[in-house]
Formats: sequence, structure tokens, C-alpha cells
Amino acid sequence: MDSIALFWFRRDLRLDDNHGLYRALTSGKRVLLTYIFDLDDWFSQGFNDQRVAFVRHELEQIRQALSAFQSDVAVRVGHALEELYKLCEQYSVTDVYVNREYEPQKIKRDELIHNELKKRSINLFSYNDHLILKPDAVLKSDGTPYQVFTPYSRKWREIYNDLNPPEYPSEKHLSALWPMDAETQPTKGLENCPKLEESRIPPKKIKPAMLRTYGTTRNEVFNEEGTSGLGVHLRYGTVSPRIKFKGSAQYSEVFTTELIWREFFASILYHFPRVITESFRTEYDRIKWRNNEQEFQHWKDGTTGYAIVDAGMRQLNQTGQMHNRVRMIVASFLVKYLLIDWRWGEAYFAEKLMDYDLASNNGNWQWAAGTGVDAAPYFRVFNPISQQQKFDPKQAYIRKWVPDEMNGKIPEMVDLKFSRERCLEVYKQALNA
Ligand code: FAD
Repeated sequence: MDSIALFWFRRDLRLDDNHGLYRALTSGKRVLLTYIFDLDDWFSQGFNDQRVAFVRHELEQIRQALSAFQSDVAVRVGHALEELYKLCEQYSVTDVYVNREYEPQKIKRDELIHNELKKRSINLFSYNDHLILKPDAVLKSDGTPYQVFTPYSRKWREIYNDLNPPEYPSEKHLSALWPMDAETQPTKGLENCPKLEESRIPPKKIKPAMLRTYGTTRNEVFNEEGTSGLGVHLRYGTVSPRIKFKGSAQYSEVFTTELIWREFFASILYHFPRVITESFRTEYDRIKWRNNEQEFQHWKDGTTGYAIVDAGMRQLNQTGQMHNRVRMIVASFLVKYLLIDWRWGEAYFAEKLMDYDLASNNGNWQWAAGTGVDAAPYFRVFNPISQQQKFDPKQAYIRKWVPDEMNGKIPEMVDLKFSRERCLEVYKQALNA
């Protein structure tokens, strides 16, 4: 058997403009594709998860496209290293290609895999694909990472314009795939995976009309077409961030700035992995959180009595999605009005969000709590009533998600004025300690 290269899909579930895949396909070797439901990754929480269903759905799309090339994806359930070994042995693989992941535990995993494969004389080649610019590409002139978004984004754009990042047309080289019969897909554990409602998968294409008005519509929480819905696609790499940036730049600078926020938070996590457990500004870890479990449960269930908060939480619980503005409102409510540790909210979002991403989730929670890089000042507390009046003036969003509350059935769980003052006092005490 000829020696072949293996491309391992991870957060890059697409055939087009896929950097690592392009490198594998143009390496001169035939290429075998794999996806591993890694039991050491978040799939270890179980397969009864809409996100697993999303991954399976997207893999199925890829497999169907590959049938034109008499090829398939070898899908496996197991521990990544063991499954890689098995595939390398079965197909005499000498080179493994991946796109890099930048979360600290993924970096560690890849180092281990690199070393273990090396012992068997197998190379691991890795490329940047998940971000448009590598996390260590955008640094201050003294070589240290930015901690404030505006200068970061300015520098980011400068580098981007100089570099004009190329595309990697992997889709044009699929004839280099290893021909293989369609595989019977594994079911171990996956049979518990829920069925995905197709209507919950946002389109991969962005409409120019949406981009042209994005500056205003992005805050209209009732407007389901006011934002791109690309979050889940960027998370799993089912769209290319390079192509989305390039394609939207002519229509909306505000939109491309949001894509740069994604890169900013990824770079913060990369340079300051301690933010996973600590406040970026460590003095905020002196805050004496109330952490009332019963109140936390009300927040999770969407029974706080504040309609916009409850609507957001119910949308999250039912669909795995929540509008960005509402995410800010519910986060501020939890942290500031209830004085519950931002890490509790972060963990709940991690369990539920379809587009959950460690870097963006952590960065935004710390932003909302005032503890992070370039965060909202701690005394900025989003009032859920005025926020609702401003961003959902006709109550369309609230009516959709909490019709019962419209009848005033749920009592307001806290007094806003009292809780706001309590919050400011507790924050002040922590910072002056
Ligand atoms: P659009 O408005 O269409 O934006 C396009 C893309 O830009 C998004 O898909 C996303 O990749 C990026 N983007 C937009 N806003 C932000 C932002 N504030 N920070 C980082 N990237 C951004 N985003 C996640 O991708 N994963 C998370 O786990 C996540 N957790 C969040 C938690 C909180 C408390 C808050 C306030 C925000 C969080 N966000 C997270 C950011 C933001 O809410 C989502 O990216 C956005 O709502 C996704 O919807 P969209 O694709 O329609 O966004």
C-alpha cells in the first residue's frame, strides 16, 4: 500500500479554504480524512447534546460531497491518540495534518500527540486556520500582547492589510483524496445524540443587505435577521473566517470589528491562560460573591420576573442560542444584581450555547463582570427594564419567549435600586481592600 497522509478534522469542518487540508492535499500524497469524537474532549460530557448533533450533521454534508470523489471520512469515537494510532497503522500513514487549536488544554494535547507520533516516525504538521491572524501575530511594539481592544484592532487591521492573507483552495484538490468505500458510521454512544432541527442551523451565507444595516440591526434583539448567526459555524469551522472577513469588509466595518473581537479574546486566552480560573484583573477576585443557589436557579430557569432576562434564558434553554445584547443583559443581571460569581454564569453558558467557545465566552463574561481586559467599568450596570424598552420596544422578543410573564405572573425577584447599590458597595470594598 502507498504511504498516505491523514487529515484530522477538528474545528475546521469544511472542504473549502481549509488551510491544513490544502497542505495535505498538495503534499503529493493521497489523503485520508478522519474525524474523532474525542472522549477526552467535551464529548466526554455525553452525546445527548445539540452540538454533537450539529457536528454529525455537518460531517454528513461533507461525506455526501465526498462521494463524488469515491471517498469518505473515517469517523471514530474514542481517545484521539489511540484512534490516530489505529488509523496510522491500518493505512500506513506517515504524515498527519491538522489545523491548530489555541486553547491551553488543546495545545498540551497536541504537544503530547506530536511527541507520541514522533516515536513512531510519524510527522504531525499543523497550520493556522481557526483565526485569521495567529494569536502571536498581533503584538505591541515591545513584543507584549495587547490588553485593550481598540489599539489591538488597529494593529490587527494594519497587519491584515500588509499580509493580505491568502486563501487555501482545498476544494480544488479533492482528487488527491484516498479512495475509500463509504464507511458504516460508528454508533458507540452516538445513538443518544438528539435529532437536530434543521431550522436551528443558521445559513452559512451572509446577506449583503444584512451587513449594510448591521450597525443598527445588531442591537435589535427581536430581529432574528439583524445579525449573521455565524457563531456556531465559526466555532466549528463550517465556514472560513478568512472568506467571511474578506466578503463582508466592503459592506460593514462594524461587522468586521466583531470578527476582530473574536480574534482578540482568542489571543487573550492564548497569552493569559490563567483567565480560565482567575479574573484577568486579579484584584476583582476579592469580591465577596453572594452565590445564592436558589437565585442562581431562578436565573437559569428564566424566572427572575424581569422579562428580558427570562426571555433570554428561556431562549438559551430551548434553542442553545441567545442574542448578543441579551447575553450582556443576563450576564450583568447575574453578576451585578444577584452578585453571583461570573464563573457560574460562564459555566452555564458553556453547557448550553450552540456557539460556545472558551475564549469568547470567558472574555465576554469577564467583560460583563468588569473583571476582564478592556471590560465595562464595574459601575456600569445594565438595567433590565430600560434595556428592554430600548432594544425590544414593541416587546416582540419578550412575547415570543415568555408569554406567561406578559400576564405578570412571575414576581420580580430583586429590587433593582437596592441590588445595584449593594453591588457597587461590594465591588468598592473589594477594590479598596
Ligand atoms: P454577529 O453579530 O453576526 O457577529 C459575527 C461574529 O462575530 C460572531 O459569530 C462571532 O464569531 C463574532 N463576535 C460577535 N460579537 C462578539 C463578541 N462580543 N465577542 C467575540 N466574538 C464576537 N460568542 C461566541 O462565539 N461564543 C461564546 O461562547 C460566546 N459567549 C458569550 C457570552 C457572553 C456573556 C456575551 C455577552 C457574549 C458572548 N459571545 C460569544 C459573543 C456574541 O454574543 C456571539 O458571538 C454572537 O451573539 C453570535 O451571534 P452572531 O453570529 O449572529 O453574531
